[in-house]
Amino acid sequence: MWYKKLHWQIVLGMVLGVVFALVMVQFSWGPEFVSDWIKPFGTIFINALKLIAVPLILASLIKGVSDLKDLSSLSKMGGKTIALYLITTTIAVTIGLVVVNTLKPGASISEETRNELLESYKGEADARISDARRQMETGPLQALEDLVPDNIFAAASNNRNMLQVIFFAIIFGIGLIMIPEAKAKPVKDFFDSFNDVILKLIDLIMKTAPYGVFALLAALIVEAPTADLFVALGFYALCVVIGLALMVVIYVLIASVYAKKSPAFFLNAISPAQLLAFSTSSSAATLPVTMERVEDHLGVDEEVSSFVLPIGATINMDGTSLYQAVAAVFIAQAFGMDLTLGAQLGIILTATLASIGSAAVPGAGMVMLVIVLAQAGIPEAGLALIFAVDRPLDMCRTTINVTGDATVALTVAASEGKLHDPVAED
Ligand code: ASP
Repeated sequence: MWYKKLHWQIVLGMVLGVVFALVMVQFSWGPEFVSDWIKPFGTIFINALKLIAVPLILASLIKGVSDLKDLSSLSKMGGKTIALYLITTTIAVTIGLVVVNTLKPGASISEETRNELLESYKGEADARISDARRQMETGPLQALEDLVPDNIFAAASNNRNMLQVIFFAIIFGIGLIMIPEAKAKPVKDFFDSFNDVILKLIDLIMKTAPYGVFALLAALIVEAPTADLFVALGFYALCVVIGLALMVVIYVLIASVYAKKSPAFFLNAISPAQLLAFSTSSSAATLPVTMERVEDHLGVDEEVSSFVLPIGATINMDGTSLYQAVAAVFIAQAFGMDLTLGAQLGIILTATLASIGSAAVPGAGMVMLVIVLAQAGIPEAGLALIFAVDRPLDMCRTTINVTGDATVALTVAASEGKLHDPVAED
Protein backbone atom coordinates (compact mmCIF):
# COMPACT_ATOMS: atom_id res chain seq x y z
CA MET A 1 0.00 0.00 0.00
CA TRP A 2 1.50 3.34 -1.05
CA TYR A 3 0.64 5.11 2.19
CA LYS A 4 2.62 2.56 4.17
CA LYS A 5 5.79 3.75 2.51
CA LEU A 6 7.79 6.05 4.73
CA HIS A 7 8.44 8.70 2.11
CA TRP A 8 4.73 9.14 1.39
CA GLN A 9 4.04 9.43 5.08
CA ILE A 10 6.71 12.12 5.33
CA VAL A 11 5.29 13.94 2.30
CA LEU A 12 1.85 13.79 3.88
CA GLY A 13 3.27 15.20 7.13
CA MET A 14 4.88 18.05 5.19
CA VAL A 15 1.74 18.90 3.24
CA LEU A 16 -0.48 18.76 6.31
CA GLY A 17 2.04 20.94 8.20
CA VAL A 18 1.87 23.60 5.48
CA VAL A 19 -1.94 23.46 5.27
CA PHE A 20 -2.28 23.60 9.05
CA ALA A 21 0.00 26.65 9.25
CA LEU A 22 -1.88 28.41 6.45
CA VAL A 23 -5.11 27.90 8.38
CA MET A 24 -3.54 29.03 11.65
CA VAL A 25 -2.20 32.30 10.25
CA GLN A 26 -5.83 33.29 9.60
CA PHE A 27 -6.32 33.61 13.37
CA SER A 28 -4.66 36.30 15.45
CA TRP A 29 -3.60 33.70 18.05
CA GLY A 30 -2.61 31.11 15.41
CA PRO A 31 1.07 31.87 14.84
CA GLU A 32 1.78 32.02 18.57
CA PHE A 33 -0.06 28.73 19.08
CA VAL A 34 2.11 27.08 16.43
CA SER A 35 5.31 28.54 17.92
CA ASP A 36 4.41 27.49 21.47
CA TRP A 37 2.72 24.15 20.95
CA ILE A 38 3.77 22.72 17.58
CA LYS A 39 7.28 23.96 16.86
CA PRO A 40 8.85 22.30 19.97
CA PHE A 41 8.00 18.87 18.51
CA GLY A 42 9.95 19.77 15.37
CA THR A 43 12.88 20.87 17.49
CA ILE A 44 12.72 17.66 19.52
CA PHE A 45 12.76 15.65 16.29
CA ILE A 46 15.84 17.46 14.95
CA ASN A 47 17.56 17.20 18.33
CA ALA A 48 16.93 13.45 18.42
CA LEU A 49 18.56 13.10 15.00
CA LYS A 50 21.52 15.24 15.96
CA LEU A 51 21.83 13.37 19.24
CA ILE A 52 22.75 10.16 17.48
CA ALA A 53 24.99 11.71 14.81
CA VAL A 54 28.23 11.67 16.84
CA PRO A 55 27.75 8.19 18.39
CA LEU A 56 26.77 6.91 14.95
CA ILE A 57 29.90 8.27 13.30
CA LEU A 58 32.10 6.86 16.05
CA ALA A 59 30.55 3.41 16.06
CA SER A 60 30.02 2.91 12.36
CA LEU A 61 33.29 4.43 11.20
CA ILE A 62 35.39 2.53 13.73
CA LYS A 63 33.61 -0.65 12.71
CA GLY A 64 33.81 0.23 9.00
CA VAL A 65 37.53 1.02 9.02
CA SER A 66 38.47 -1.92 11.21
CA ASP A 67 36.54 -4.29 8.92
CA LEU A 68 38.84 -3.34 6.04
CA LYS A 69 41.47 -5.93 5.38
CA ASP A 70 44.35 -3.52 5.17
CA LEU A 71 45.31 0.12 5.07
CA SER A 72 45.79 0.26 1.32
CA SER A 73 42.07 -0.29 0.73
CA LEU A 74 41.36 2.60 3.06
CA SER A 75 43.63 4.95 1.19
CA LYS A 76 42.27 3.78 -2.18
CA MET A 77 38.72 4.41 -1.03
CA GLY A 78 39.73 7.75 0.50
CA GLY A 79 41.34 8.88 -2.74
CA LYS A 80 38.31 7.93 -4.82
CA THR A 81 35.92 9.59 -2.39
CA ILE A 82 37.73 12.91 -2.30
CA ALA A 83 38.23 12.90 -6.09
CA LEU A 84 34.52 12.23 -6.70
CA TYR A 85 33.52 14.89 -4.20
CA LEU A 86 35.68 17.45 -5.94
CA ILE A 87 34.51 16.46 -9.41
CA THR A 88 30.78 16.60 -8.54
CA THR A 89 31.18 19.92 -6.75
CA THR A 90 33.00 21.42 -9.73
CA ILE A 91 30.24 20.17 -12.04
CA ALA A 92 27.66 21.77 -9.73
CA VAL A 93 29.36 25.18 -9.73
CA THR A 94 29.76 25.05 -13.48
CA ILE A 95 26.09 24.22 -13.98
CA GLY A 96 25.18 27.11 -11.68
CA LEU A 97 27.33 29.51 -13.68
CA VAL A 98 25.90 28.37 -17.02
CA VAL A 99 22.30 28.74 -15.79
CA VAL A 100 22.77 32.17 -14.21
CA ASN A 101 24.72 33.54 -17.17
CA THR A 102 22.17 32.24 -19.63
CA LEU A 103 19.01 33.34 -17.84
CA LYS A 104 20.45 36.53 -16.27
CA PRO A 105 18.00 36.84 -13.35
CA GLY A 106 19.83 39.88 -11.94
CA ALA A 107 19.15 41.97 -14.99
CA SER A 108 15.42 41.94 -14.22
CA ILE A 109 15.82 43.59 -10.81
CA SER A 110 14.94 47.27 -11.00
CA GLU A 111 17.05 49.80 -9.15
CA GLU A 112 14.11 50.54 -6.89
CA THR A 113 13.64 46.89 -5.87
CA ARG A 114 17.37 46.58 -5.38
CA ASN A 115 17.50 49.50 -2.98
CA GLU A 116 14.43 48.30 -1.16
CA LEU A 117 15.96 44.86 -0.67
CA LEU A 118 19.31 46.32 0.40
CA GLU A 119 17.55 48.44 2.99
CA SER A 120 15.16 45.79 4.32
CA TYR A 121 17.76 43.10 4.91
CA LYS A 122 20.83 45.17 5.75
CA GLY A 123 20.89 44.03 9.40
CA GLU A 124 20.68 40.33 8.55
CA ALA A 125 23.31 40.68 5.84
CA ASP A 126 25.71 42.52 8.14
CA ALA A 127 25.46 39.75 10.74
CA ARG A 128 26.43 37.14 8.12
CA ILE A 129 29.25 39.32 6.81
CA SER A 130 30.85 39.68 10.22
CA ASP A 131 30.52 35.91 10.79
CA ALA A 132 32.34 35.32 7.51
CA ARG A 133 35.02 37.92 8.33
CA ARG A 134 35.90 36.02 11.47
CA GLN A 135 36.44 32.90 9.36
CA MET A 136 38.47 34.78 6.76
CA GLU A 137 40.87 36.08 9.41
CA THR A 138 42.23 32.61 10.11
CA GLY A 139 45.47 31.36 8.53
CA PRO A 140 45.63 29.17 5.41
CA LEU A 141 46.28 25.97 7.34
CA GLN A 142 43.63 26.56 9.98
CA ALA A 143 41.29 23.98 8.45
CA LEU A 144 44.03 21.35 8.68
CA GLU A 145 44.83 22.36 12.24
CA ASP A 146 41.16 22.12 13.17
CA LEU A 147 41.03 18.56 11.90
CA VAL A 148 43.02 17.17 14.80
CA PRO A 149 41.27 17.59 18.15
CA ASP A 150 43.28 17.89 21.35
CA ASN A 151 40.56 16.22 23.34
CA ILE A 152 38.15 13.65 21.97
CA PHE A 153 35.48 14.35 24.57
CA ALA A 154 35.56 18.04 23.82
CA ALA A 155 35.38 17.27 20.08
CA ALA A 156 32.49 14.86 20.52
CA SER A 157 30.58 17.35 22.63
CA ASN A 158 30.01 19.77 19.75
CA ASN A 159 28.13 18.74 16.62
CA ARG A 160 30.10 21.30 14.65
CA ASN A 161 33.27 19.29 15.22
CA MET A 162 32.13 16.40 13.10
CA LEU A 163 35.40 16.27 11.12
CA GLN A 164 37.38 15.93 14.36
CA VAL A 165 35.23 13.01 15.42
CA ILE A 166 35.69 11.47 11.96
CA PHE A 167 39.46 11.90 12.28
CA PHE A 168 39.49 10.19 15.67
CA ALA A 169 37.28 7.33 14.48
CA ILE A 170 39.51 6.72 11.44
CA ILE A 171 42.75 6.59 13.40
CA PHE A 172 41.10 4.45 16.06
CA GLY A 173 39.94 2.05 13.33
CA ILE A 174 43.44 2.02 11.85
CA GLY A 175 44.83 1.19 15.28
CA LEU A 176 42.44 -1.74 15.47
CA ILE A 177 43.63 -3.09 12.11
CA MET A 178 47.22 -2.86 13.23
CA ILE A 179 46.96 -4.84 16.49
CA PRO A 180 46.65 -8.65 16.58
CA GLU A 181 43.18 -9.83 15.65
CA ALA A 182 42.53 -11.61 18.94
CA LYS A 183 43.19 -8.38 20.82
CA ALA A 184 41.08 -6.29 18.47
CA LYS A 185 38.09 -8.59 18.61
CA PRO A 186 36.47 -7.48 21.89
CA VAL A 187 36.69 -3.81 20.91
CA LYS A 188 35.34 -4.54 17.44
CA ASP A 189 32.50 -6.60 18.88
CA PHE A 190 31.65 -3.78 21.23
CA PHE A 191 31.42 -1.20 18.44
CA ASP A 192 29.53 -3.70 16.31
CA SER A 193 26.79 -4.03 18.90
CA PHE A 194 26.92 -0.32 19.70
CA ASN A 195 26.36 0.36 16.02
CA ASP A 196 23.35 -1.97 15.92
CA VAL A 197 21.80 -0.15 18.86
CA ILE A 198 22.25 3.20 17.13
CA LEU A 199 20.69 1.84 13.91
CA LYS A 200 17.72 0.63 15.91
CA LEU A 201 17.39 4.12 17.42
CA ILE A 202 17.35 5.64 13.92
CA ASP A 203 14.51 3.27 13.07
CA LEU A 204 12.57 4.43 16.09
CA ILE A 205 13.19 8.11 15.41
CA MET A 206 12.17 7.70 11.79
CA LYS A 207 8.82 6.35 12.88
CA THR A 208 8.13 9.83 14.24
CA ALA A 209 9.41 11.57 11.09
CA PRO A 210 5.98 12.38 9.60
CA TYR A 211 5.02 14.16 12.83
CA GLY A 212 8.42 15.84 13.10
CA VAL A 213 8.25 17.30 9.59
CA PHE A 214 4.65 18.38 10.18
CA ALA A 215 5.85 20.50 13.12
CA LEU A 216 8.93 21.77 11.30
CA LEU A 217 7.06 22.93 8.22
CA ALA A 218 4.18 24.44 10.19
CA ALA A 219 6.65 26.51 12.23
CA LEU A 220 8.54 27.53 9.11
CA ILE A 221 5.40 28.81 7.41
CA VAL A 222 4.10 30.87 10.33
CA GLU A 223 7.54 32.38 10.89
CA ALA A 224 8.25 33.16 7.23
CA PRO A 225 8.75 36.86 6.62
CA THR A 226 5.77 38.30 4.77
CA ALA A 227 7.87 39.65 1.97
CA ASP A 228 6.33 41.12 -1.13
CA LEU A 229 9.94 41.29 -2.21
CA PHE A 230 9.85 37.54 -2.29
CA VAL A 231 8.22 37.79 -5.71
CA ALA A 232 10.98 39.98 -7.12
CA LEU A 233 13.38 37.19 -6.28
CA GLY A 234 11.30 34.50 -7.94
CA PHE A 235 13.40 34.41 -11.09
CA TYR A 236 16.64 34.16 -9.15
CA ALA A 237 15.17 31.36 -7.00
CA LEU A 238 14.02 29.59 -10.15
CA CYS A 239 17.56 29.68 -11.54
CA VAL A 240 18.90 28.02 -8.39
CA VAL A 241 16.16 25.39 -8.55
CA ILE A 242 16.80 24.69 -12.26
CA GLY A 243 20.50 24.23 -11.53
CA LEU A 244 19.73 21.89 -8.61
CA ALA A 245 17.31 19.89 -10.77
CA LEU A 246 20.06 19.47 -13.38
CA MET A 247 22.28 18.07 -10.64
CA VAL A 248 19.66 15.41 -9.93
CA VAL A 249 19.89 14.43 -13.60
CA ILE A 250 23.66 14.13 -13.23
CA TYR A 251 23.26 11.96 -10.13
CA VAL A 252 20.81 9.53 -11.68
CA LEU A 253 23.07 9.28 -14.72
CA ILE A 254 26.06 8.49 -12.50
CA ALA A 255 24.00 5.94 -10.56
CA SER A 256 22.85 4.19 -13.70
CA VAL A 257 26.16 4.26 -15.56
CA TYR A 258 28.53 3.41 -12.71
CA ALA A 259 26.32 1.39 -10.39
CA LYS A 260 23.69 0.09 -12.84
CA LYS A 261 20.88 1.35 -10.63
CA SER A 262 17.75 2.72 -12.26
CA PRO A 263 16.70 6.31 -11.47
CA ALA A 264 13.47 5.04 -9.87
CA PHE A 265 15.33 2.60 -7.63
CA PHE A 266 17.94 5.18 -6.65
CA LEU A 267 15.49 7.98 -5.87
CA ASN A 268 13.04 5.67 -4.15
CA ALA A 269 15.78 4.34 -1.89
CA ILE A 270 17.02 7.72 -0.72
CA SER A 271 13.80 9.77 -0.82
CA PRO A 272 13.19 9.75 2.97
CA ALA A 273 16.67 11.21 3.47
CA GLN A 274 15.98 13.83 0.80
CA LEU A 275 12.68 14.78 2.41
CA LEU A 276 14.33 15.11 5.78
CA ALA A 277 17.11 17.23 4.32
CA PHE A 278 14.43 19.43 2.81
CA SER A 279 12.55 19.72 6.10
CA THR A 280 15.56 20.28 8.37
CA SER A 281 17.96 22.21 6.06
CA SER A 282 20.78 20.33 7.70
CA SER A 283 22.93 17.61 6.15
CA ALA A 284 24.32 16.83 9.61
CA ALA A 285 20.91 16.24 11.14
CA THR A 286 19.98 14.09 8.14
CA LEU A 287 23.18 11.99 8.28
CA PRO A 288 21.81 9.12 10.40
CA VAL A 289 18.95 8.63 7.96
CA THR A 290 21.19 9.02 4.91
CA MET A 291 23.41 6.26 6.28
CA GLU A 292 20.51 3.95 7.00
CA ARG A 293 18.97 4.48 3.54
CA VAL A 294 22.25 4.10 1.68
CA GLU A 295 23.17 0.91 3.50
CA ASP A 296 19.85 -0.87 3.77
CA HIS A 297 18.02 0.43 0.71
CA LEU A 298 20.74 1.26 -1.84
CA GLY A 299 22.77 -1.75 -0.75
CA VAL A 300 26.10 -0.03 -0.07
CA ASP A 301 28.34 -1.99 2.31
CA GLU A 302 28.87 -0.36 5.66
CA GLU A 303 32.64 -0.25 5.13
CA VAL A 304 32.01 2.27 2.38
CA SER A 305 29.01 4.19 3.66
CA SER A 306 30.42 4.69 7.15
CA PHE A 307 33.48 6.31 5.60
CA VAL A 308 32.05 8.19 2.64
CA LEU A 309 28.85 9.63 4.13
CA PRO A 310 30.03 11.38 7.33
CA ILE A 311 32.86 12.99 5.36
CA GLY A 312 30.41 13.92 2.62
CA ALA A 313 27.94 15.48 5.04
CA THR A 314 30.66 17.82 6.24
CA ILE A 315 32.59 18.63 3.09
CA ASN A 316 30.60 17.65 0.01
CA MET A 317 27.97 20.27 -0.69
CA ASP A 318 27.13 20.34 -4.38
CA GLY A 319 23.84 22.16 -3.83
CA THR A 320 25.50 24.79 -1.69
CA SER A 321 28.30 25.41 -4.18
CA LEU A 322 25.82 25.71 -7.06
CA TYR A 323 23.71 28.15 -5.06
CA GLN A 324 26.79 30.21 -4.18
CA ALA A 325 27.76 30.50 -7.83
CA VAL A 326 24.26 31.54 -8.91
CA ALA A 327 23.88 33.97 -6.01
CA ALA A 328 27.26 35.62 -6.59
CA VAL A 329 26.61 36.24 -10.28
CA PHE A 330 23.00 37.29 -9.60
CA ILE A 331 24.21 39.94 -7.13
CA ALA A 332 26.82 41.14 -9.62
CA GLN A 333 24.13 41.38 -12.32
CA ALA A 334 21.80 43.27 -9.99
CA PHE A 335 24.57 45.80 -9.37
CA GLY A 336 25.12 46.10 -13.10
CA MET A 337 28.59 44.56 -12.89
CA ASP A 338 30.06 42.61 -15.78
CA LEU A 339 32.07 39.66 -14.52
CA THR A 340 35.04 38.70 -16.66
CA LEU A 341 35.72 35.09 -17.59
CA GLY A 342 38.63 35.17 -15.15
CA ALA A 343 36.32 36.28 -12.33
CA GLN A 344 33.87 33.51 -13.19
CA LEU A 345 36.63 30.90 -13.20
CA GLY A 346 37.66 32.29 -9.82
CA ILE A 347 34.11 31.65 -8.63
CA ILE A 348 34.46 27.97 -9.58
CA LEU A 349 37.42 27.72 -7.23
CA THR A 350 36.09 29.83 -4.37
CA ALA A 351 32.57 28.36 -4.43
CA THR A 352 34.08 24.86 -4.33
CA LEU A 353 36.22 25.77 -1.34
CA ALA A 354 33.48 27.80 0.34
CA SER A 355 31.03 24.90 0.09
CA ILE A 356 33.63 22.57 1.60
CA GLY A 357 34.02 25.03 4.46
CA SER A 358 30.27 25.44 5.01
CA ALA A 359 28.97 23.75 8.14
CA ALA A 360 26.20 21.21 7.58
CA VAL A 361 23.62 23.36 9.36
CA PRO A 362 20.88 25.72 8.18
CA GLY A 363 22.07 28.94 6.59
CA ALA A 364 25.78 28.09 6.62
CA GLY A 365 26.11 28.36 2.84
CA MET A 366 25.04 31.97 2.93
CA VAL A 367 27.76 32.92 5.41
CA MET A 368 30.42 31.33 3.22
CA LEU A 369 28.97 33.08 0.18
CA VAL A 370 30.52 36.25 1.59
CA ILE A 371 33.94 34.77 0.84
CA VAL A 372 32.96 34.07 -2.77
CA LEU A 373 31.70 37.64 -3.16
CA ALA A 374 34.82 39.11 -1.59
CA GLN A 375 37.15 37.16 -3.89
CA ALA A 376 35.21 38.15 -7.00
CA GLY A 377 35.08 41.81 -6.00
CA ILE A 378 31.25 41.79 -5.75
CA PRO A 379 29.80 44.06 -3.02
CA GLU A 380 29.23 41.96 0.11
CA ALA A 381 26.27 44.11 1.04
CA GLY A 382 24.56 42.39 -1.90
CA LEU A 383 23.85 39.53 0.49
CA ALA A 384 20.80 41.54 1.55
CA LEU A 385 19.40 41.10 -1.95
CA ILE A 386 18.95 37.37 -1.61
CA PHE A 387 18.14 37.07 2.07
CA ALA A 388 14.36 36.87 1.70
CA VAL A 389 14.47 33.58 -0.21
CA ASP A 390 17.43 32.01 1.50
CA ARG A 391 15.54 29.55 3.69
CA PRO A 392 13.51 27.87 0.94
CA LEU A 393 16.64 27.69 -1.19
CA ASP A 394 18.55 26.25 1.75
CA MET A 395 15.95 23.48 1.94
CA CYS A 396 16.44 22.70 -1.74
CA ARG A 397 20.24 22.87 -1.73
CA THR A 398 20.49 20.67 1.38
CA THR A 399 18.41 18.04 -0.44
CA ILE A 400 20.95 18.09 -3.25
CA ASN A 401 23.88 18.00 -0.83
CA VAL A 402 22.55 14.79 0.67
CA THR A 403 21.74 13.28 -2.74
CA GLY A 404 25.30 14.02 -3.86
CA ASP A 405 26.74 12.20 -0.86
CA ALA A 406 24.55 9.17 -1.54
CA THR A 407 25.58 9.14 -5.21
CA VAL A 408 29.27 9.17 -4.36
CA ALA A 409 28.80 6.43 -1.74
CA LEU A 410 27.04 4.29 -4.35
CA THR A 411 29.69 4.94 -6.99
CA VAL A 412 32.61 4.20 -4.67
CA ALA A 413 30.88 1.02 -3.49
CA ALA A 414 30.23 -0.10 -7.05
CA SER A 415 33.82 0.48 -8.07
CA GLU A 416 35.13 -1.43 -5.05
CA GLY A 417 32.68 -4.32 -5.51
CA LYS A 418 31.07 -3.46 -2.20
CA LEU A 419 27.37 -3.47 -3.08
CA HIS A 420 24.92 -5.98 -1.63
CA ASP A 421 21.24 -6.66 -2.16
CA PRO A 422 19.15 -4.10 -0.32
CA VAL A 423 17.99 -5.57 2.97
CA ALA A 424 14.88 -3.48 3.39
CA GLU A 425 11.95 -3.04 1.05
CA ASP A 426 10.42 0.36 1.79
N1 ASP B 1 22.12 23.79 5.02
C1 ASP B 1 23.13 23.23 4.17
C2 ASP B 1 23.46 21.83 4.63
O1 ASP B 1 23.32 21.50 5.78
C3 ASP B 1 24.36 24.09 4.11
C4 ASP B 1 24.00 25.40 3.47
O2 ASP B 1 23.58 26.33 4.15
O3 ASP B 1 24.11 25.49 2.22
O4 ASP B 1 23.88 21.03 3.83
